[in-house]
Amino acid sequence: MFYNSRFYSIIHNKCPRCHEGDFFVTKSAFSRHFDDMPDHCPHCGLNYMPEPGFYWASMFVSYAFYATWTLTTFFIVVAWLNVDLNHYLSGLIPTLILLTPLFFRMARRTWLTLFVKPHLATAERTENESSHRKSGVNSL
Ligand SMILES: [Zn+2]
Repeated sequence: MFYNSRFYSIIHNKCPRCHEGDFFVTKSAFSRHFDDMPDHCPHCGLNYMPEPGFYWASMFVSYAFYATWTLTTFFIVVAWLNVDLNHYLSGLIPTLILLTPLFFRMARRTWLTLFVKPHLATAERTENESSHRKSGVNSL
């Protein structure tokens, strides 16, 4: 459905360039090794770690996810359903803890997706482009 969109790789745990290789080793965000990543895309060879500390900035993306979740649930639960604020806050904290692995993975995929242009198998490739695939990120 979104296959040609950058959102596809963010939502479906796929490489931001080819949308075929898995970004994280495990399929589920709620498994024991939820943060294990291969060094390169198993399908196109994209370097998932372009430089040391690359994913530090994904914390800001993660923060945006937490803020969006908090504001959205606040307006639904407190402002629309008129639930007491203390009850809302006591329910919010467990959801934030439970969503941490999901937001962690989505933030990393989002961060790398910002710097990598999708290059899908349906598009034509030239010899020059295929040599760029082996070198890692094509636009930083
Ligand atoms: Zn790939």
